[in-house]
Amino acid sequence: MSEPIIEVRHLSKSFGTHVVLRDVDFTVNHGDVTCVIGASGSGKSTLLRLLHIPDDNTSGQVLFDGIDIRRLTPESLNSLVSVVQQNVFVFNASIRDNITMFRAFPQETLDEVIRRAHLEELVARRGLDALCGEGGCELSGGEKQRIAIARALLKQSSILLADEATAALDAQTAHEITQDILSLTGITRVVVTHRLEASLLECYDEILVLKDGRIAETGTFAELAQRGGYFSAMYKLAH
Ligand code: ADP
Ligand code: MG
Repeated sequence: MSEPIIEVRHLSKSFGTHVVLRDVDFTVNHGDVTCVIGASGSGKSTLLRLLHIPDDNTSGQVLFDGIDIRRLTPESLNSLVSVVQQNVFVFNASIRDNITMFRAFPQETLDEVIRRAHLEELVARRGLDALCGEGGCELSGGEKQRIAIARALLKQSSILLADEATAALDAQTAHEITQDILSLTGITRVVVTHRLEASLLECYDEILVLKDGRIAETGTFAELAQRGGYFSAMYKLAH
């Protein structure tokens, strides 16, 4: 499918006199995975926030399936979009309840989501009824992220947003979680990252390069690398 699901139209955002996003304009098609990359302070988190928190104090628009997200009810926006944060909120409840958020689902549905979120190993080792501990202290950082992914899949969200979700994880786990997000099918993803890893960057349908709140460049990893512009300079600096 190549129908747009997310359309960001001439989006600008200021905090006081500080312009943080300038005329940001892009489209994400159904099922695609888009990467947002840029230096610290370039506006990545602000952009991602505007994709799930409607803000009247902007110019431009964010549309989901052609509808301005400011016209969606909080409930429909919440069911449409899931966000994987750096700190996943985990209840001191069972692994099952943390995935289902205390709702009932058929076991097959739950099993399928556990498989897609790569939680089989945890579930095989500890069992679905094992308690996660206060703030999820019985789980590793990677397992918490996978629980957040599982929640999104169970909600059947159309859109998954991740803002440096893996930044607090060790490099190997961060790589694995990013790969898990990249390999999901049937869900549109926008991933903010500062990790310039070719093997991951190659997997994105499109990379948006932010510089001082503007989209400086867009393209696939191969296109950007070949262009020899801002992204390419950033990539070379990091290697
Ligand atoms: P990034 O995620 O790329 O590091 P951010 O979107 O967090 O960038 O921030 C972009 C700029 O916007 C920064 O200069 C930051 O200080 C500023 N900024 C972000 N949020 C706020 C806010 N709530 N109030 C004032 N300035 C903000
Ligand atoms: Mg940020």
